This record gives sequence, C-alpha cells and structure tokens, in this order.
Amino acid sequence: MGAPEAFATGSDIGHWIAGRRDGGASGRTRAVFNPATGALARQVHLGGEREVAAAVAAADEAFPAWADTPPIRRARVLNKFLELMNRHKDRLAAMITAEHGKVFSDAQGEVMRGIDIVEFACGAPQLLKGDFTDQASTGIDNWTLRQPLGVVAGVTPFNFPCMVPCWMFPLALACGNSFVLKPSPLDPSPSLLMAELLREAGLPDGVFNVVQGDRGAVEALMAHPLVKALSFVGSTPIAHALYQSGAQQGKRVQALGGAKNHLVVMPDAELEQAVDALIGSAYGSAGERCMAISVAVLVGAVADRIVPLLAARARALKIGNGMQGGVEMGPVISRAAKDRIESYVAWGLEEGAQLVVDGRGFTIAGHEQGFFTGATLFDRVTPAMRIYREEIFGPVLACVRVPDFGAAVQLLNEHEYGNGAACFTSDGNVAREFTRRIQAGMVGINVSIPVPMAWHGFGGWKRSLFGDMHAYGEEGVRFYTRQKSVMQRWPASIGKGAEFVMPTAK
Ligand code: NAD
Repeated sequence: MGAPEAFATGSDIGHWIAGRRDGGASGRTRAVFNPATGALARQVHLGGEREVAAAVAAADEAFPAWADTPPIRRARVLNKFLELMNRHKDRLAAMITAEHGKVFSDAQGEVMRGIDIVEFACGAPQLLKGDFTDQASTGIDNWTLRQPLGVVAGVTPFNFPCMVPCWMFPLALACGNSFVLKPSPLDPSPSLLMAELLREAGLPDGVFNVVQGDRGAVEALMAHPLVKALSFVGSTPIAHALYQSGAQQGKRVQALGGAKNHLVVMPDAELEQAVDALIGSAYGSAGERCMAISVAVLVGAVADRIVPLLAARARALKIGNGMQGGVEMGPVISRAAKDRIESYVAWGLEEGAQLVVDGRGFTIAGHEQGFFTGATLFDRVTPAMRIYREEIFGPVLACVRVPDFGAAVQLLNEHEYGNGAACFTSDGNVAREFTRRIQAGMVGINVSIPVPMAWHGFGGWKRSLFGDMHAYGEEGVRFYTRQKSVMQRWPASIGKGAEFVMPTAK
C-alpha cells in the first residue's frame, strides 16, 4: 500500500506544552492499542491539574503577542502549516489507522477534511474584517470589530483524531486565540504530530498546547479561570454537562454530542444508489462516525425490495486490517466498544426486531485478538426499541418501515437527536419538503453523509449540539471572537453643551 511508517513503535505519548514535548508528572498512563491486532502499542500519559495549569499558563503568556500579530501574518503561519499538513498527510493517516482502526483510505479522507479547514482559516484577514458605517450620525462613524477571547480549549472524541481537532484550532488560532487541545486518550498520536508541524510552521511557542488525558484533564480545563471558551465534541451526556458547567461559570461553550442519523428511502429513489449509500454510511469507519447512518427509514413498498439487497451487501462486506488494500471496514476502537455493540444486537433480538444479518462473533484469521465485529442488519425495528432510540456507534443498521413520507418526517423529528438526516428520492418537491421540515442541523438530498464544507459550518440540532454556534465556518469565527462596536467623532463635530436625551441620528 506504500503508506509511510507512522511512528517509532513503543514510544510513550506525552503532552505538548510551550512548544516542547512534556512527559507528564502525574504518573498516570493508559494503554493505547492497535485495534486491528488487539496488541498494546504504547502508553499515553494522562494529564491532570498540573499539566493543565502549565499548558494554560503557557497559552496565557503567548496570547497577547499572538493576538497583536496582524491577521495576515497569522494566516501566513497557517499557510505554512497547510503546506506541512499536505506533506505529512499520509503519515497522519497511517497514525489514525494504527490507533483508530479505520481503513487507510478513509483516514486519508479524514485528514483531507481537516486540511480543508486549515485552508479556510488561511482566509483570516477576510474573515476578521469588520463592518463600518460612515456618518452613522452627523460627524460620527460606527464600526464593529471582532477580537479574540484569550485562552480557549478543545476536547475531542476518538473517532476523528485529526479532523475534529481541525474543526477547532485552525480557526481559533486564525482569530488570535491561544489553544489547549485535550484529545481522546484512545488515539492520541496525531495531536502531537500536528503540534510539531505547527511549530515547524513558525507558530510561537505556547500558542498551541496539548494535554493528554481523560475526564480529570477536562474538568481541570473547565475549572481554570483563564480558559475563556471550550469546544467539545463527543457523547451527549458529557456535552450537556460541560455546556451546563460553562453556563454556570460564564464561559462560552459549544458542545457537539451524539447522533442517530436517519436515511429515508422513498419509493421513487434509485434503488442501487440508495443501497450503496446505506452500506457505505452505515458500515464505513465501522459505524463510528457522528454522521454515520444508523437508521434506514423505508417508505411503503420499497422495504421489501431493498432489505434483501442490503442483506447481501452487508454479508459480503470486506472486513479486515485497515492497512490492507481492498478492505472496506476495519475493527472498532476497543474491546469494550465491541462488547457494547454486540450487547445491543442481543437487546434488539430480545425486543423483537428481525435480525437479518448478525455481525457478532466475527473473527479474522491472523487477527484473532483484533476488535472486530461484523456488519449487523435489523429489519422491522420500532421506535420503542433501544436499538432505535440509543446511539450504538458501531456497524449496526436498523431498518424502520413507515407507510408514507409524512410518517417518515414525524419519525425523524420525534427522535432526541438531530445531527444529520438524508432523503433519497427523485421527486423535487419531496426533497424540498424534507429539507424544510426536518429537525436536523445537516441535511442530505441523495447525499448520505452531508458533512458541510469548511466554509459552511458543522452542527446538529436538538440533543446533538448544545450552544449557539456550529463548528468551523463563519459560525466558528463568531465563536472564537467577541464583537466590539466603536463610535467615534472628533472635536470639530461635537456640539456645545451636555446632552440629556437619548442620542439619535442627526
Ligand atoms: P466521549 O464523550 O466518550 O469522549 C469525548 C471526549 O471527552 C474525550 O476527549 C474524552 O476523553 C472526554 N471525556 C470522557 N469522559 C468524560 C467526562 N466524564 N467528563 C469530561 N470529559 C470526558 O466520546 P467518544 O467515545 O470519544 O466519541 C464518540 C462520541 O462522539 C459519539 O457519541 C459521537 O456521536 C460523538 N461525536 C459527535 C460528533 C458531532 O459532531 N456531533 C462528532 C464526532 C463524534
């Protein structure tokens, strides 16, 4: 396959503080596995209050000079970083496959979607341009500018160890903030490579820091008075709790949570296209995508035609080590995830769903200890079942049969999550109605995974996002800056005498 060697094996993973690697003094570590082999690969240090305090202090010290750096010069650093990310993209992808398990080509796609956002952030001077009103009143001008917040933090999930951090730090830095990243301890290595590349690109020490860790590091970040804002991506209970904590402390928080994305197949959909879409988006990355499709909503007579096609494709899926060519689905992230996913399959059966393809107990010769589970397909799932209501985050597709389009829309809108939603149809009016009526932040029409481009912003509705701003895009710029409005006049245009009435335009 020709993928580059990701890293020297056996090396421990520490923090990145003030432009240097930091081994961590807390002494706590956690094992990092290769999910395809199940083998222990290395140890990651778990930072606590000490590491968070050191990283925030470094970020706070670096902030004033970075905030004062003209946006175009900040953008030049990001431009250089963009070049380095492109140069090292396969190395990053190999690191992702080694620690996450997704197939190498999918990991390459992840890195490219992260790079897109770096490219967007390179437009900082344009993005930060303010608004100006000449002659707001006689002799008075009014303008608005956006200024950085200070030290901001990002907490990211295991499933996109490169792309999701890139939803956050490139824009945060472009806007003049300094940053502390707390990656997932399950696949922490890409964070350090990106830190090194930022340094090589000329980012001043302390502007970007990484504290490895788990809940303790997140709590220390959240409690630190100098951390002005937190971007979180992960599961809903934690997203909600961090959003509440932020509100209590007066911190700005955007917290993206879990999902249960539905794809509606209308009777007039191109069947082969719908099958391809469902198979790719339910089982790609072993279903461990926040935009994975986990529910197929089959409208009317389409169900009897599509379920056998889905079953045949799910059974034929090529599952294996993601570094091997031709593999379509890799392992899941951990043994615990495999056990959780397979428990859901058992619950689905107990609750009366029809198990069409059972992925449990799947093994691969030579990879017996790998965290593999096969593709699972359920039919005749109902909204009361746990496998419908809860996020499984694995390669399990639940088919729900509904009589008509109205019932499909109602089903989606009644679900607690509202991240992505898709509709496959050949009818323009159905597409339009779906787009307008659906309660979800991202909608696909004949597009199963509608992840918005870097300049549009990413975010769900309902319990898939807590906060006002979506990630990246112009909403990202707003999140990482505060607006200041300035009114100015000069002595020649100031009249005589005190004014006691509310000033109005004259
Ligand atoms: P997770 O919620 O377990 O962990 C996310 C981050 O929070 C990690 O950095 C983790 O170390 C930290 N964390 C874990 N427990 C914590 C606690 N009690 N307090 C504070 N922080 C804690 O999520 P995960 O398993 O890494 O990722 C999968 C989840 O992320 C899924 O629910 C998926 O839908 C979601 N996700 C959502 C999006 C989105 O855009 N909405 C994108 C990717 C993933």
